[in-house]
Amino acid sequence: MATVTDVRNAPKKAALPQIRQTQLFIGGQWIPAKSGKTFETCNPATEEVIAQVAEGDAADVDAAVRAAREAFDSGPWPRMNARERGRLIHKLCDLIEGEIDELAALESLDNGKPVSDARLGDIPLALDALRYYAGWADKIHGQTIPVSGNFFTYTRREAVGVAGQIIPWNFPILMTAWKWGPALATGCTVVMKPAEQTPLTCLRLARLAQKAGIPDGVINVVPGFGPTAGAAIVKHPGVDKVAFTGSGETAQIIMRQAADSLKRLTFELGGKSPNIVFADADLAAAAAGAHVGIYLNQGQCCCAGSRLFVEDSIHDAFVDTIVAMSRSRKVGDPFDPATEQGPQVDQAQFDKIMGYIAQGKQEGATCATGGKRVGTKGFFIEPTVFTNVKDEMAIAREEIFGPVLSVLKFSDTDELVRRANATNFGLAAAVWTRDIARAHDVARRLRAGTVWVNCYDVFDAAAPFGGYKRSGFGRELGERGLDGYLETKTVTVSLDPPGR
Ligand code: ADP
Repeated sequence: MATVTDVRNAPKKAALPQIRQTQLFIGGQWIPAKSGKTFETCNPATEEVIAQVAEGDAADVDAAVRAAREAFDSGPWPRMNARERGRLIHKLCDLIEGEIDELAALESLDNGKPVSDARLGDIPLALDALRYYAGWADKIHGQTIPVSGNFFTYTRREAVGVAGQIIPWNFPILMTAWKWGPALATGCTVVMKPAEQTPLTCLRLARLAQKAGIPDGVINVVPGFGPTAGAAIVKHPGVDKVAFTGSGETAQIIMRQAADSLKRLTFELGGKSPNIVFADADLAAAAAGAHVGIYLNQGQCCCAGSRLFVEDSIHDAFVDTIVAMSRSRKVGDPFDPATEQGPQVDQAQFDKIMGYIAQGKQEGATCATGGKRVGTKGFFIEPTVFTNVKDEMAIAREEIFGPVLSVLKFSDTDELVRRANATNFGLAAAVWTRDIARAHDVARRLRAGTVWVNCYDVFDAAAPFGGYKRSGFGRELGERGLDGYLETKTVTVSLDPPGR
C-alpha cells in the first residue's frame, strides 16, 4: 500500500508536449509542400498517429536550395563578424535550454526513447556540440607558408557553401546539432532533411533558430522521404556538400547520385562494434559498460557494442551477470521516469530485429534471455542476449540496430584482434582491462574510429567521431568536424617590386 512518503517521492510522469511545427521551413517561412501532400508521424509506444507533417519533394527542395544559396551568396551570414555568428549559435542554445523539458517530451513522443534519456543525455550533448562550435566560429583561420622564390603564400579557410544534411531517426535532436554546429560556425547555409519517422524536433529547433535571430535562409528544413526529398538534395546542383548519417546502403545510393555533380561527401554509417572484456578487468564496470553499450537508445546506436568478446576464463560468470542485468532492465512507457528502454522506432525496425532474433536461433546460437515482443501494442522488444555465437553467424556480422547482444568467447589476444577486425565496419570498439600496456596495444591495433578503454559511449563535442572502412568517412565533432564544411584557398603574392 502506498504511504504518504511514497506518493510524495513518486517521480512525476512528463506531460505530453504540444506539436507546433509541422510545415516546411524555407527562407524563414513556414509553408505547406507545393504538392499539398502530408505524411503521418507516429508514436512508437502506442502506434498512434501524432501529427501530419508537410511532405517535401524535389520542388520544395529546389525552393530550399535557392533560399540557402541566396543566403550564402549574398546574405549576411557568411559575411558577418564571425564572433557574431558564434553569439547567435549561443542564443539558439539559450532558447533550447529554456524549453528543454518540452523538447525532451517531443523527442520521446516521436522517437520512443525514454524522456529521461532525451532530457539528461541527448539534449545536453546537443547543447555541448552547438556551444563547442559556437566557440570555433571566430577561431577558423589559415596559415602563412614559406615557399621558394620571392612570394608570400597564405591559406584561407572558407565555408564550402550550401550544405545538404540528411539525418536518421535514432537521435533526431543530437544529429541536428552535430550537423548544424560546424555548418553554422563556418558560415555555411543548410538544407536539412530529418528522417521521415522523426521530423518534429528538428522543425522545433528551426523555429528556435529563427527566434534566436539566425537570418532567413541560413537554415531550411524539408521533411519528407529519402528517395524523393533526400535524393533531390543529393542531386541538386546548388548544393555544395552533403553530410549524411544513416545506413551504408543509402550511402552507396547517395555516392552514386552525387557523382554527377562531384559533391563533397561526409558519411557516418553503421557499425558492429567489438566490446572486449579481458579477465583482469574490473568486471562490475565491464558488465555495466556491456549493458549500456548494447542497450542505450533501445540498441539503435551506430556505435552499439553489439559483439561482446569475453575472455574464456571468466566467460560463464560474466554471461550470468549480463543476463541478470538484462532481465531486470525496465522496458515500458517512455514517459515514465523509471523506464530504461522504450519501443523501437517503427514496425520496419521491429520486424528487422525480430527477424535477426529468429535467424540467431535458427543458426544455432543460444538465446540466453529475451527474444520476444513486450506487450501487444507499441514496438517493444525484450533485452536479448545470445551466447554460443560463432563469428560467421548473421547476428555476429550484420548490424541489428536493436537490443540484441551477441557474446563471443576468446582466449588469445592476437586471435581476438584478428576476429574483432574481421568486419566491414569500423566505427567504434572498447577494451576492458587493468593492464595499461595491453589496453594501448589493443587500442592501436583495432581498426575503428573510436576506441574506449574501460568505458563505453563516452562522447564529447571536442573528440572527433567517425568511421573506418564501411562505417563512413570524414569526422564529426572536434576540430576535424569543421573540415567537411571548409575549403582551403591558397593565395600567392609576388613580392617583386612593381616594374621589375
Ligand atoms: P535507416 O535504416 O537508419 O532508416 P536510412 O539510410 O534509410 O537509414 O535513412 C537515413 C536518412 O536517409 C533518412 O533521413 C532517410 O529519409 C534518408 N534517405 C533514405 N534514402 C535516401 C536516398 N535515396 N537519398 C537520400 N536520402 C535518403
